[in-house]
Amino acid sequence: MTPAQRHASLVREIEASNYRYYVLDDPNVTDAEFDALLRKLRALEEEHPELATDDSPTRRVAGQARTSVVQVKRPVRMLSLDNTYSREDLAEFYRRVVDGLPAGETPRFCVEPKLDGASIEVIYERGRLVQASTRGDGVVGEDITENVRTMRSVPLRIAHERRLTLRGEVVIYRRDLESLNTEREGQGLEPFANPRNAAAGAVRMLDPREVARRPLRAVFYQAVEGAELHATQHETLDWLEKAGLPTHRRHAVVPWEGVWEEIETIDRARDDYPFETDGAVVKVDAYRHQDMLGMTSKFPKWAVAYKFQAEQARTKVLDIAVQVGRTGALTPVAVLEPVALAGTTVSRATLHNAGMVEALDLRIGDTVFIQKAGEVIPQVVSVDLAARDREHEKFRMPTKCPSCGTPVVRDPRDAEKPELGLGAATRCPNRDCPEQIRQRIFYFARRFAMDIDHLGVALVDQLVEHGIVHDVAGLYSVGPERIAKLAHMGEKSAENVFASIQRSKERTFDKVLCGLGIAQVGQVAARQLAEELGSMPEALALDPQALRERVASIHGFGPKMVESVVAFFQDRAQRAVMEELVAAAVGRPQPRAEVAAHGPLSGSSFCVTGVLSKKREEVHADIRAAGGEIHDSVKKTTTYLVAGDKTGKSKLDQAKKFGTTVVTEEQLYARMKGGP
Ligand code: AMP
Ligand code: ZN
Repeated sequence: MTPAQRHASLVREIEASNYRYYVLDDPNVTDAEFDALLRKLRALEEEHPELATDDSPTRRVAGQARTSVVQVKRPVRMLSLDNTYSREDLAEFYRRVVDGLPAGETPRFCVEPKLDGASIEVIYERGRLVQASTRGDGVVGEDITENVRTMRSVPLRIAHERRLTLRGEVVIYRRDLESLNTEREGQGLEPFANPRNAAAGAVRMLDPREVARRPLRAVFYQAVEGAELHATQHETLDWLEKAGLPTHRRHAVVPWEGVWEEIETIDRARDDYPFETDGAVVKVDAYRHQDMLGMTSKFPKWAVAYKFQAEQARTKVLDIAVQVGRTGALTPVAVLEPVALAGTTVSRATLHNAGMVEALDLRIGDTVFIQKAGEVIPQVVSVDLAARDREHEKFRMPTKCPSCGTPVVRDPRDAEKPELGLGAATRCPNRDCPEQIRQRIFYFARRFAMDIDHLGVALVDQLVEHGIVHDVAGLYSVGPERIAKLAHMGEKSAENVFASIQRSKERTFDKVLCGLGIAQVGQVAARQLAEELGSMPEALALDPQALRERVASIHGFGPKMVESVVAFFQDRAQRAVMEELVAAAVGRPQPRAEVAAHGPLSGSSFCVTGVLSKKREEVHADIRAAGGEIHDSVKKTTTYLVAGDKTGKSKLDQAKKFGTTVVTEEQLYARMKGGP
């Protein structure tokens, strides 16, 4: 195969697995395999830069943030949909459709889920994605091409020459929101209340690198241009799917008599859909009929949305409790008279912070409406003021930590997050606060981190209360006998907990980092960080300058993340915990991404240092893809030292001592291409 053929075949393979993953929701490769394919493609493009065209999967994320908002004017207005809330309203819609069509025409209807996200328009020209925009006011939207390019559900290339203009919704799948929120919690950020908010905020972000970190997916539901190929809405939807474009794949075509049943089917099934669905859209199926019906200034006359009831419940607020989180943030929580809502019994609802309580004008004793936004924790939507029988006292945030009594501080850092619209957070500044310790331990033990089973609330409470454990590292020095002596702990259960704590020592370094909860660093970033730093002892051995350099070399780590990691490692209390963990042999070194079995660099090992034209992590990946091995420092067995600008003298001395050949970046890449 020629390099161009190899390139085309790799691109096909990558796009096919994107399709399987994002459109069919049926992945055929693991994430690691996918990364390996992408690395291979990068290496190939490195050798043959002419192959790295704009629509290569390696070019999804632009390296630059937008500095300004570019507007896009569209020829076909992006309309809203008329909303209906009852069967009668729907019947009214049907009468208007029949009235608008010549006698003898019998319309059929395409019934689809209404996705709850942010609307976008995407244009393909000669098979290439050329533009994406937000809805804006319908005529003028905002150019978000670079953001949409980062969404792997959207192919950059399609086998369709004619211009194609698509409309769709950018959504976040519920399950992806869970991991995104975990990631945000890890960064000390407020979790998103529902997928819609998370998606809507993200599509317009200025930095595509930020957008790429959000699990956004586009789902197309309409072709405005290019649809001439088909006669009906449902054929277009079927065609989109065949063309490798993401659609909701949940539509049905029925005569009017069947519409209501389809709506009910969607309503029943929507909890199982991966995306949020807030209604059904009923569309006249034939384009011929759509054209005859036309539109009003706001809505097409051939479509209508039927909105499902948002599930709400009314109940009484018995109390407003204040919770202390693992970072010390104080969160007010409404304690409710238990009430049934969307299949579960709800007795608590989050209030985020004092600002929200104030905005709702919520008092203890009030009757409120609560709602489940997505699958997430219920929220208080509003206060039923008519039901307020007397003037309850206003809620005030405590001035002292409810757990340890330390005077609280208002954290100005949180005021810089206007996207939350929630004002500043209130914090307990005492790291030894018992509640913070408990929360840190629970966080550390969670599945995505150290995954420690059997560590129940009652047990952790006692460990902290009796001063047996002062921080996460303390868990590893508690013996089974000590645990068994605590209240409600049998010998058997004590052994179980002890065993699962011991087992957690085998977790890799990234899980330990996750469990420690470094601000700005979630699961994915923790893995990158662990791969770069190797192990906890290696990380602790670095001086701040070296650490900063290493962390800054990681792909996608911006200055904020770098500073957060450096500050974390410099913090005395954090260091003490980490050192204790090392002493207890907690965490294994991070396994490196596997080395290609054969390649031009097979059998050689490399230490990369100094300032290079690319991020060090990328150079590492290229070396591995070419079969080479990476050494973090120059060792006896290191074959080559790749020395960039400003290479330290000590590194060069080491190389001299061990007989390691010093090469430049250019020489390295020449070797990868099979040169001397
Ligand atoms: P609204 O924002 O309430 O006026 O509803 C109109 C919006 O619903 C459209 O702009 C689309 O972004 C969105 N929508 C979601 N799913 C669909 C669908 N299946 N067909 C048409 N529009 C949809
Ligand atoms: Zn406290």
